[in-house]
Amino acid sequence: MESTLTARDRVGVQDFVLLENYTSEAAFIENLRRRFGEKLIYTYIGSVLVSVNPYKDLEIYSKAHMERYRGVSFYEISPHIYAVSDNTYRAMRTERRDQCILISGESGAGKTEASKKILQYYATTCPVTDHMSTIRDRLLQSNPVLEAFGNAKTLRNDNSSRFGKYMDVQFDFRGAPIGGHILNYLLEKSRVVHQNHGERNFHIFYQLLEGGEQDQLSKLGLERNAQKYHYLVKGCCPRVSSINDKSDWKTVRKALTVIGFHEEEVEDLLNIIASVLHLGNTQFGEGEDGETQITTESHLTYLSKVRTSNMNSTSSHRLTHSLILHFKGPLSFEQAVAARDALAKAVYGRAFTWLVAKINQSLAFKWIVFYLQDEVYNSSKGSSSVIGLLDIYGFEVFQHNSFEQFCINYCNEKLQQLFIKLTLKSEQEEYEAEGITWEPVKYFDNKIICDLVEEKHKGFISILDEECLRPGEPSDISFLEKLEDTLGGHAHFVTHKLANGKTRKAVGREEFRLIHYAGEVNYTVNGELANQSVNSRTVICQSDNQILSQCFHREEVTTQKRPETAATQFKNSLAKLIEILMSKEPSYVRCIKPNDAKQSGRFDEALVRHQVKYLGLMENLRVRRAGFAYRRRYEAFLQRYKSLCPGTWPNWQGRLADGVATLVQHLGYKAEEYKLGKTKIFIRFPKTLFTTEDALEAR
Ligand code: ADP
Ligand code: MG
Repeated sequence: MESTLTARDRVGVQDFVLLENYTSEAAFIENLRRRFGEKLIYTYIGSVLVSVNPYKDLEIYSKAHMERYRGVSFYEISPHIYAVSDNTYRAMRTERRDQCILISGESGAGKTEASKKILQYYATTCPVTDHMSTIRDRLLQSNPVLEAFGNAKTLRNDNSSRFGKYMDVQFDFRGAPIGGHILNYLLEKSRVVHQNHGERNFHIFYQLLEGGEQDQLSKLGLERNAQKYHYLVKGCCPRVSSINDKSDWKTVRKALTVIGFHEEEVEDLLNIIASVLHLGNTQFGEGEDGETQITTESHLTYLSKVRTSNMNSTSSHRLTHSLILHFKGPLSFEQAVAARDALAKAVYGRAFTWLVAKINQSLAFKWIVFYLQDEVYNSSKGSSSVIGLLDIYGFEVFQHNSFEQFCINYCNEKLQQLFIKLTLKSEQEEYEAEGITWEPVKYFDNKIICDLVEEKHKGFISILDEECLRPGEPSDISFLEKLEDTLGGHAHFVTHKLANGKTRKAVGREEFRLIHYAGEVNYTVNGELANQSVNSRTVICQSDNQILSQCFHREEVTTQKRPETAATQFKNSLAKLIEILMSKEPSYVRCIKPNDAKQSGRFDEALVRHQVKYLGLMENLRVRRAGFAYRRRYEAFLQRYKSLCPGTWPNWQGRLADGVATLVQHLGYKAEEYKLGKTKIFIRFPKTLFTTEDALEAR
């Protein structure tokens, strides 16, 4: 790998702002493709890192590579995830401002790998003391645990994160990692009870069955055979060639110990995993009295044994006990199955929440340790800083889009809002700091779409709440009608009805279309939306069983307040996330998947174009290029080009700004091509820079 100051890399441009034709999507993709062909998977858009998944291990993540990026500025070296890691770290240290790195991209694009590489970079390069090495190890080990419980094999990624994750890493005044905190979003609970063909349930189930010791399995009443379990066979793919469940199990067990789980806690956790499997195998039939009954009593025996002493009060302990009573209620067969599945999902979901809380406890920065080291305590008081890592799904659009895609895409609208606000703000601040007149940038402000979703009383979520919470069964059709009444005519909302009374073919009768900043998406309300929002309530609350309904919907049942729908809950947690991110200085990593076959060396242009669009990269570039393509500190610019001008060679003695002025005058820069700020030169067009580069090469 070359270490170079040149703006052009070995192949193409290493920063898209240097593309001559920066508005051309074709030129953008061609640059990506050429670089990808040379295994240059990283390219910048200004300070945004674009990364293309190589689908093979490249020799660019060694300790030596990490060292090379330490303390080096962005433009002095090839683009790399380590450059982003290091610059973020240094900004935190020198400016004493909290930072965050936002990683986005579609499933399989490399987000989670990127976040792991960032964490590894910090774990390797940051200073540590003995105590801190524990925290560092726990930070690293939280990954395999969360992945075991929150990741699964999907068609698009063998190790797909089925939840969004925001992780804070806390550093002390010396820049050593001292703590962490994780927030999780939208765990895909439906996977617990159903998997599409070719996909699996969460890894942990297979890991336990493959790797668990025999007596452990016996105690849990489990057989070492995934095929025996209803919840594990739906996708017809218990084994995956790229996954070794047995050795992963060992890794997870070890990680749990490093993080500080007690044996009983691990046992509790495994009990819950087992109880979900037993629950899945619980079958129903018709009893003598015509009521639905459980026909597989043996599974219930294990269910009732579930010990969850350390879980919170709404734990599965009471749930599973009450389950036995519950299923004897007057439910139809379908209702009983739905209630069983709802219970399994809820139990798993709560176990996951508990797991994250437990990891957070273990990562929590403990001031007490520092009391013992007076000096450290005194100087670290109040001066720790944070780097947050956000690994969350990018824009999603499928043939069939449901509530889940709606949430993900809404989340991306909010993140785009944040991006626009913060990027424009930082550009403006830099211009002001440099004493250069700010030239307003034209851009599409997607606030209008965020409002469409979240505005009080007349936004999408308010309407959904109204519909779900009014007495009686929520109906998709009435919901759609309400949407039409309130949002019809909005520039970003479309249904099949045309203003002239005719029908729009591209939108189905059970669909609505949102025109997102990144493109149009049709969402189906067919059962999905309304059901998601009331969750399992309608089914389970039909039970007379007090305990069950309390456990499940304690808040809803006991408080007079209206229950929150899943959409509102998501809206609120998203608002909190945005607030956290707003308080920090952001960096961005945009991940791209080069092909759907998970193959190295294959670059599917159509697929990439799609992602460039949905990641909003062209808009990124436009905002970034609006003023000046290139900016560089005076000393760096002089250092590189001083040999091109007799007046500045071999050394310029005067003020740096005067040196640069002398240099560019000699080079014949025209007034409209550049501006001189307080510490930097701003160059408007890449061509100017390239001409200068050529002159340098020709010498
Ligand atoms: P996402 O989190 O975006 O869904 P992952 O980060 O899980 O995607 O990446 C999917 C797979 O792609 C990984 O399991 C790995 O095999 C491969 N991959 C991703 N990034 C890299 C990389 N930088 N180098 C090598 N392989 C990678
Ligand atoms: Mg992931």
